[in-house]
Order: sequence, then C-alpha cells, then structure tokens
Amino acid sequence: MAGKPTVGIYSFTGCEGCSLMILECEDQLLDVLELVEIVNFREGMDKIADQVDVAFVDGAVSTSHDIQELLEVRKNAKIVVALGACAWPGGLNVMKNFQDQEDVRRYVYGDKWAAYDAIPARPIDRVVKVDYYIRGCPIDRDEFLEVTQAILMGRAPNIPNHPVCVECKLSDNPCRFDFGEVCLGPLARAGCKAICPSFGTKCEGCRGMVDEPATQAHRGVLEKYGLSVDDMMREYRLFGGWFWGGDLGVPDLPERATSK
Ligand code: SF4
Ligand code: SF4
Ligand code: SF4
Repeated sequence: MAGKPTVGIYSFTGCEGCSLMILECEDQLLDVLELVEIVNFREGMDKIADQVDVAFVDGAVSTSHDIQELLEVRKNAKIVVALGACAWPGGLNVMKNFQDQEDVRRYVYGDKWAAYDAIPARPIDRVVKVDYYIRGCPIDRDEFLEVTQAILMGRAPNIPNHPVCVECKLSDNPCRFDFGEVCLGPLARAGCKAICPSFGTKCEGCRGMVDEPATQAHRGVLEKYGLSVDDMMREYRLFGGWFWGGDLGVPDLPERATSK
C-alpha cells in the first residue's frame, strides 16, 4: 500500500455501535490517524472521497438499497473488513428471518408496510467478498487495532481460536452454569476478555464459534447441568441464527463471485 492508506467506515443495518467503538479508541486512535487518512465516515466527518484502500463495514444487509450501496463500497475499496456481529454473521437482525416477513413489516411499518424496502437480513459476505472479519457485539477495541495494524503491515491478524472459557478461567470468574444459565463460552471464540461472565452474565456467543468447537465436551457440560442441546441452540440463535435456519436459503448474489 503506497503512501498514507485511505480508510472509509460505513454503516448498514445495526446500531452503528461498532463504528462508534472506533472513535472510543481514544489515545490509540491518534496513533492510527498518523498512519491512515479517514476519508469517509458518516458518524465522524463530511465525506472527502469515495475511493478507499480499506473499507470497514458495520451492520447487516436488510434492504435492497443496502445491497446496491454495499456493492458500491466494494467496488471502491481494495480491502473490505466486516466490523461486528451485524456485518457477520448478521447478528440480532437475523431474528426477523424466523418470523413471517409480511407480519414483520406490518408490525414495524403499519399499514404503509408494502411501501418500505425490506428483505431478509443477511451477513455482508453473502453480497460481497470480505477480506477480514472483526467479531463481536460490539467489537473489541484491541482487536480492531490488531486487525488494522496487520492490514497496514501486510501480515495475518492474530485472532484467538480458543473458547471464551479460557479467558473466563484466567479471570477467575464463577461459572454461569452454576447459576442455572446456558453459557456459550465453551464454543464461542475468545478475544473479548470474557467480558460478559466477568460482569456476571452468560456468554451469548456474539463472536461466533471457534473453528473446531468441542461440541462433545459442551454436550457433557449441558448433561451435567440437566440441560439439552436444544437449550443451547436457542441461545446460539440470538447471534448465530444465520447458521441455524435463519438463512432462509438466501442465495449469494451473482455479483459476489465477481466483486473484488
Ligand atoms: S454488532 Fe452490536 S454494537 Fe455492532 S452495530 Fe451490531 S448491534 Fe451495534
Ligand atoms: S461462565 Fe461460561 S465462559 Fe466462563 S467458564 Fe463457565 S461456561 Fe466457560
Ligand atoms: S463473552 Fe460471549 S457474548 Fe460476551 S462479548 Fe464475549 S463472545 Fe460476546
């Protein structure tokens, strides 16, 4: 990447909390700004340019307009990074896919529902090719900085591939299973410093699973506490619904195969 790389930060369907998390990098943000030039960031500035070296994208795709806008982002960017659980694997947005789509639109838009653009929610990598993923709801600041640094240095980012339980045990937290809760920590990918159990709540798997989850071990834990795989699946559907029936058979767009 010659010269000072340019960066764009884009938001689709979501709370935009992951974009705002970038602004909260505070001291480190100043270091990042010495290395890159942000030229497109609705939350923080007026747009300077459309073409960027790196596009960070938060939010899921849930309208036809989102699809067209995301294709434009991909066309104008050398590298696309999915930012947060809404961007991948679709996050809470996918919950609507389990409902009747017309009912959902009537509930949200009332008697004008048919005039509103709404499609089943999907991760951004169902529409365009994604080069890097920063997980979580919201993203972890340190992981954002690690991935950004890796991109700038042209190396692979160091992303944990062990379960949240490892970080949780290191923090000496009491186990949420002992409180009668279904915790996804044995399957979920670490990197958040086990923040939820550290604050007294179960892990809901917002960072997705590790590459090879120890499902048998988790099944053993569930049995020990008188819980079932169905109990676990209900929890996982909150963030991982796309993989558990929420994809509605949505096909990849033809553009995805040809986009950069
Ligand atoms: S992943 Fe969470 S914090 Fe990020 S945009 Fe979606 S809802 Fe907001
Ligand atoms: S609370 Fe959850 S993450 Fe922590 S040890 Fe128990 S199962 Fe693992
Ligand atoms: S503990 Fe689980 S739900 Fe909480 S941030 Fe980490 S991965 Fe996400």
